Amino acid sequence: MASSANEAPRHAHLATESEQTWLGIMGGGQLGRMFAHAAQAMGYKVAVLEPQADCPAGQVADRHIQAGYTDETALAELAALSVAVSTEFENVPAQSLAFLAGRSFVAPGAECVSVAQDRVREKQFFTRVAGHMGNGGVFPASHAVIAASSDLDRIDAKLLPGILKTARMGYDGKGQVRVKSMDDLRAAYAGMGGVACVLEKMLPLAYEISVLVARGVDGEAVVYPIAENVHRDGILFTTTVPSQNVSASIAERAQQAALAIVAELGYVGVLCIEFFVLQDGSLVVNEMAPRPHNSGHYTMDACVTSQFQQQARAMAQLPLGDVRQHSPTVMLNILGDVWFDESGREREPAWDKVLALRGAHLHLYGKAEARRGRKMGHVTFVGTTMEAVQANLRAACAILGIPV
Ligand code: ADP
Ligand code: MG
Repeated sequence: MASSANEAPRHAHLATESEQTWLGIMGGGQLGRMFAHAAQAMGYKVAVLEPQADCPAGQVADRHIQAGYTDETALAELAALSVAVSTEFENVPAQSLAFLAGRSFVAPGAECVSVAQDRVREKQFFTRVAGHMGNGGVFPASHAVIAASSDLDRIDAKLLPGILKTARMGYDGKGQVRVKSMDDLRAAYAGMGGVACVLEKMLPLAYEISVLVARGVDGEAVVYPIAENVHRDGILFTTTVPSQNVSASIAERAQQAALAIVAELGYVGVLCIEFFVLQDGSLVVNEMAPRPHNSGHYTMDACVTSQFQQQARAMAQLPLGDVRQHSPTVMLNILGDVWFDESGREREPAWDKVLALRGAHLHLYGKAEARRGRKMGHVTFVGTTMEAVQANLRAACAILGIPV
């Protein structure tokens, strides 16, 4: 059933009684779980490859191949089963995707994922795309690459205060240190253990946005509305759509940049790009995730086609779905913190009270243990007006003991 790299899968139609069509996912987290729900609703079987036994996606997948991400026997099994394979976390080893690509249709491709895995390559790539775009081009923050401690001697003081970020493996604010002086920078770099880093100038952010875009193998691309994101302690806190701050011209530039990025990458699947809007109104591109994204969870309840259904369509080489948003919305991330009361005792959050709020949708990821800072689920509020949605957000935060 497997087709070779970049060749159309021959059985990407929906399941019939005589034949089941499988889609494969590298990784067993919540993104894989929500993908599985969407793909199964369309009649697909879903296989996930994930080393952990009781994982969010493994609980709902039709098959859980429990093995390491580089286990070639397991990768071969996933590829043989699946007409297409995708990844739900961005640190999947690029060589594993390359291995799969020889045996199944892999979307997005290994090269796209590896650009997104490395902040140095990612920033070079963004700079190149911005250059091609001319006037409307969107550049990354001023930065310097620190590949070895000798590079510290050549750092331009204009980059301070700044943020030192590891080039690889960072997420949810991990692998980042804010530095004010050269001494801070030297100490922070030493603390990273000698890995390659990027020093970015600390920018005066007005607010943050993300753009979710999907591209099919035929080059057709669709772009969702601008999402406005608030982070707390480096972790996404809320996503509001439509953005309450973005102007039509910034929105247009961010969406055009997103379309140029997927075109340049020859990307297939869902991609999310984060941008900063600065206090002077300028737009800066931050980073991209080669998969559905936390800031796109709102699409499940507020858009015609969810980001997960869109990913299944792209993988199966079906037409992409309508991205139209039908309701104003706010998504609230639910971290493990809300399982603990003021005295630190663990208890179930009052979901009954949250769900009594009109237009609230609860999504929990099936994680057995609540830990502080761990993403356990999210609640999406939809309504007829943004005011009503925001009132419900505040009410839910009060119920859950989340400071607003
Ligand atoms: P992660 O991979 O952890 O999401 P990001 O690069 O997106 O890493 O950084 C996390 C958050 O830190 C951003 O959403 C933003 O709030 C803040 N941040 C990152 N870079 C800068 C910067 N150059 N200037 C100001 N704030 C920044
Ligand atoms: Mg980020």
